[in-house]
Order: sequence, then structure tokens, then C-alpha cells
Amino acid sequence: MTQHSRYDVLFEPVKIGPVTAPNRFYQVPHASGMTNALPRVRAAFRETKAEGGWGVICTGACSIDPSSDDAPLPFASLWDDNDIRAHALMTEAVHRHGALAGVELWHGGASVMNRASRMPPLSPSGIPWMATHVGFMGNLRPKTMDRSDFRAVLKWQSDAARRARSAGFDIVYVYAGMGYLGYEFLLPEYNRRTDAYGGAIENRVRFVREMIETTKDSVGMDCGVALRISLEELRGRPGRNGESEAHEVISLLADCPDLFDVKMDSSPTDCSASRFTAEASHEPVIDFVKQLTDKPVVGVGRFTSPDTMVSQIRRGILDLIGGARPSIADPFLPRKIKEGRLDEIRECIGCNICISSWHDSVPVRCTQNPTAGEEWRRGWHPERIDCVARAERMLVIGGGPAGLECALTLARRGHEVTLVEAARAFGGRLAFETRLPGLSTWGRVLDYRLGRLKLMTNVEMFLDSPVGVDEIIEWAPERVVVATGARWTRMLYSSMELPVGQLDHPQVFTPDDLAAGRVPEGPTLVFDFDNYYMGGVLTEHLAGLGIAVQYATPAGHASAWTIMTNELPLVHRALAQRCVPVTTLHLLSEFDGETATLKHLFTGEPLRLGCRSIVIVGLRAPRGELLAALEARSAELAAAGVRSVDRAGDALAPGAIVHAIHSGHRVGRELDLAERTPAYRRDFPIVECDTVEA
Ligand code: ADP
Ligand code: SF4
Repeated sequence: MTQHSRYDVLFEPVKIGPVTAPNRFYQVPHASGMTNALPRVRAAFRETKAEGGWGVICTGACSIDPSSDDAPLPFASLWDDNDIRAHALMTEAVHRHGALAGVELWHGGASVMNRASRMPPLSPSGIPWMATHVGFMGNLRPKTMDRSDFRAVLKWQSDAARRARSAGFDIVYVYAGMGYLGYEFLLPEYNRRTDAYGGAIENRVRFVREMIETTKDSVGMDCGVALRISLEELRGRPGRNGESEAHEVISLLADCPDLFDVKMDSSPTDCSASRFTAEASHEPVIDFVKQLTDKPVVGVGRFTSPDTMVSQIRRGILDLIGGARPSIADPFLPRKIKEGRLDEIRECIGCNICISSWHDSVPVRCTQNPTAGEEWRRGWHPERIDCVARAERMLVIGGGPAGLECALTLARRGHEVTLVEAARAFGGRLAFETRLPGLSTWGRVLDYRLGRLKLMTNVEMFLDSPVGVDEIIEWAPERVVVATGARWTRMLYSSMELPVGQLDHPQVFTPDDLAAGRVPEGPTLVFDFDNYYMGGVLTEHLAGLGIAVQYATPAGHASAWTIMTNELPLVHRALAQRCVPVTTLHLLSEFDGETATLKHLFTGEPLRLGCRSIVIVGLRAPRGELLAALEARSAELAAAGVRSVDRAGDALAPGAIVHAIHSGHRVGRELDLAERTPAYRRDFPIVECDTVEA
């Protein structure tokens, strides 16, 4: 028995209606931030996963009509024949590797704002999604669908399905999830109709059934028809003829689609961050589906462990292992499993930076995989890299995320690499952060890189080695990369929304102080204007140590930016569970060792909070001493044979781990090029000019 034969089940073909997936690795539809305006970027991004062994590769949401318009959030479209070529680039690319291509046809119903099309959103009963976060709020309420709207939506779906087939898709979706139109018919909160489409569950599934039927009528001979459905809410509702309404819906539709793609209802639960949710978290909601239908079932759960995947198949939970994030972090995950190269899997860390890309309306970024989204525009491949003709002696200073990625990239290119780290362990900021509540999975950033580096014969690594200019001159490398990271400062925050002034007091701490082992005394206030995870996580950490801690921020929410990573609701829940008082919209202005004085961001009204210590989680600034010293002695360096000094990661511009990894990777690829690429290739839309009026 070969080492990996227990995973053979993952490589069995699965029939999906008239088409057959070559294996069980199914890249479910997921947002890529790549609209029809970036067709080459999109095709290359999806192709890389097909090359890496995913048997099915799907698009993200693909609108069937301008009445489903999420702009400025990114989405694809199949509104007319002009859209076909852009998609065909992707299907051709995916087919080159023997994978199937799926398209997630989508109507957003009341959950889109139609900002660009300016059409009224459609919904079963005119009930809007009233989001409380500004990024998702809209002022245009949806129209209640009448008979002509039903006819129209069904026609858009069948027309889009036919276009999808022309574009080369093998699997065509009907979408009934995540607050979008099909889903709205299933839930009585949205669907208050009293006609044949509302009321009893048999009526509420009617629209979804008709969408499936019209899709089958249009393309069912050639394409598998998939139903993507959210089951979380429905599972919580007792059914009349089944255990829950979710059971009833699946029973009623059991024979309709060729595939069930089952998921949760909201982005924060469907695509939950590892900080709050473990692998396979969907199972308690979707575990029953296979018992009620003979059709194949695909589901997700941030699966990166082949043993978990096999368990899902063997226990009859899923037929196909759905992956979105794991396929972004490692497009070659299936091939690595097949070839028994499990140590080489670049496991998703569940940070949800990829999701923030969609919220930012930009092509997808990934913390673990710096090449994601860069396949076409920079020509970066996640597994292949050109080797250099002549190896140079490279010195990388700093063993945090940026330094590790840079050293690995340089070594993969064949250079002779020395990596030095001042601390007693590699990891930089992650050495501390992975010990904070919920962040242990982020250690995979280090595990993957250290695991690879330790196997390379052209890399030397030194811990406990703070390096200065003298050492560098003595070493005389040909090139130096400074990846020495950044420091948290004690800067405060002004009403102009700028870091200004500094709060100096012995009992004022920064995250670096806590990382160094200092522990604040007595009741502690965490003042956060970094707005990402650190303020919230440190608050949880201090509460866990038994310290009476409260949290204040000038933003409207705790860890406000985490709305972008689906974490914000769970951050607030975690702070509430720890009984942490949260003060928003306040600036910290003074501290005398007993009392912190805050001011309301807009009114200036003072607020006094009793505390003995303050932790400021605000501005980070590059650790610049070494760079300054190198610059001051540049002539000596040149005389010693040092040809270039580059900066990477936080030493260049402090950011999140995703920035450090990307920066380290880019420097590793480019620092020795005669001409450094100034930017990247720019993609452009494909338009059939003869059908577009000037
Ligand atoms: P990044 O996210 O950019 O990788 P980090 O702060 O996580 O930044 O990591 C930077 C690392 O560089 C830290 O582990 C730090 O100990 C190390 N470092 C800083 N200065 C030196 C130096 N002069 N010599 C060796 N290592 C250094
Ligand atoms: Fe996973 Fe984070 Fe990459 Fe998303 S950005 S795929 S969550 S590692």
C-alpha cells in the first residue's frame, strides 16, 4: 500500500447530470474580485487551480440581468452575447487541464442595490435587507415581483444558461443562498406572498424549482444543473413533514438539480475565520442532505486536511470536497495529496483577507499564496519559478513573514541564501501573535515556509543573530534584504483622524511590550485605532489573564476593519462573552495613572474611565535603524561588494501579514533583475465591437 492510497477515494470521478467531474475536488463558486473587465486575470487565476488538480472550477457570482447589480462590488455577468467571450477564456483555460467549468448564475434580489443600473431590485414581497454597516447599506427599497417579473427572471436565467453553454461551461447554477433572490423565496421573513409562491413550504420552494426547471430545459442535455442553497436558517425551523424546513426543502427538490451545493446563510458563518471557527464547521447544518437525495452533494468547510476530506466522504456527508479558500491558498492542493506531498500543502490560515479583497472590490489577495491574482498580470505561478543562471550570495535580515518568504523565493530561484534573525525563534510578529486567542492557525504561515526552507541545501539560517552594518560588511554578501519589521508606537489619534502626539507614561504599553512579556497592572484600557484584529485580540488576551479590561476606539465598532474579513460580529460577541465594556467614537487624550480621559470624536464631550494601565494599538512604524546605518555607510558596503540593499515587508511599509508575504515574495523574485518591473500587465475587457454603438 502506498503512503497516500487511503486518499484514493478523493480521486474517484463523480457524475453530475450529463457531465463527469474527474475527481472529488470541487472549487465551489467564490468571489475573485475579477469581473468581466479582467478576463485574462480571471482565466489565469482559475486555470492555475485546474492545473493543480481541482476537478471542477467555478466562477464567482455571475449576474443574469442588470436588475442584479452589486456594483461597485465585483461580480461577473452574462447579460448578453458580448459577455460570452470573456467567460470562454476561462472555460478554455480550465478545460486544458481536464477539469469541468461551472458558472454560478445569480440574481441578487433584495440584497443588491442596483447602484449602477438604477433599476429597482426585485424581491418576493418588497422586504429589503436592512444592513447596519455602511458598506452594505442602501436607500433603494426593492419592488415586489409581479407575474411579469417572474416570467422575466425565468427568461433571464434560461438565456444566461444558454450563453453559459456557448461560453463552454459544463455546470450551470441556480442560486438560492446568502440572502439572494432564490433564498428570499424560501424564508417567510422575506416572502410574505399569499399566492402560489408564498405561505406553505411547498409554495416557497416553487420559484427555486421553476428556476431549476427552466435551466434544465435550456441546457440540461449538455450541462449539469447545480442548486446552491443556504440551509442554516431553514435547519433551525421545525418542519411540518420533516425534522426541519431544511429537510423539507431538500426532500421537495431532491430530484430536481443534478447537484446540491450546500452552504450557510451569511458570509460570517459560511466563510468564517479560523479565529472563531474550526475546519468542517458546516457539517452540523448540512449533514442530512445526502440522506434525502441521490444526487451528489458538495459542501465546504475550509478543508485542508486530506483525512478530514476522506472522513466527509466515508461518513456520507459529502460526495465532493468543496474548496474556496483552500484552493486560493494552495491551487495545487489536490496534486500534492495525489502525489503524497502532504508536507508541501500551503494550508489556508482562515484569515479571510481573500474576502476583504471582494469587499475592497479588487482582485483576490491571499496571505498564504502571494501569487493569487498575480498569475497573468505579473506572470507568477504558485509552484514554478525560473532559476537564475548565476547564484548570488543573498543575506536576508529578519525572519518574520516577509524575511521567510523572501528567503524561500530567493532559494527557490537557486541563490545562496543566508537568513538571520535576532530573536531566539523565527516568526517575527507571528511568534507572539500565534499565541493570542484564536490565532494559532496563523502559525501555518511559518510552518509552510520554515518546512520548505529547512529542506533546502542552499539556505543557511541563524537565530539569535542581531545583525548590524559591521557584520554585513564582514559577511560581504552580494545583496542584502532588510526585513526587520515594524514597531508599535505610543502615538495618539487626533480629531483630524491622524496619529499625532505621544502618550508617555510608565503604565502605557504597546503590543510590542506585551509580546516582550510585560503585563499591564490593574484595570486596563485598550485604545485601538489600528482597527484590524490586534486591538480586539489583545483585549481578549488580557481578559483571559484575569485583568479587568475595557476597549475604546474612535471607530464605530470594535476592530472596525474586520467587517472586511467577516469577523466583526464575532469580535463583538467574543468581547461581550468576556464582559468587556466597549466604547466607540472616542479619542484618548490624557492619562494620569488613575484615570483615562477620552473625548467624543464629534462633540468633544469628555468621558473619564478609571484604569491603571493603557495599551495603545495604533500606529506602526518601520524599524529603521539598520537601514539608516546602511545608508550612512553605503560606500563601505559597495567596497565590500554589496550590490544592492532592499527592504521588504513591514520594514518597507507596515501592513498585515498578507502585505509582508507579498512584499517578501516580490523582492525575492525581482531584486536581481536588470530591470525591475514597474507595475504589472493591465487587463482589459473583451468587447464584440460591431454590436456596441459608439
Ligand atoms: P515582517 O512582517 O515584515 O516580516 P516582523 O516584525 O514580523 O516583520 O519580522 C521582522 C523580524 O526581523 C523580527 O523577528 C525581528 O526580530 C527581526 N530583526 C529586526 N532587526 C534585526 C536585525 N538587525 N538583525 C536580525 N534580525 C532582526
Ligand atoms: Fe485562506 Fe487567508 Fe488565503 Fe483567504 S487569504 S485563502 S483565508 S490564507
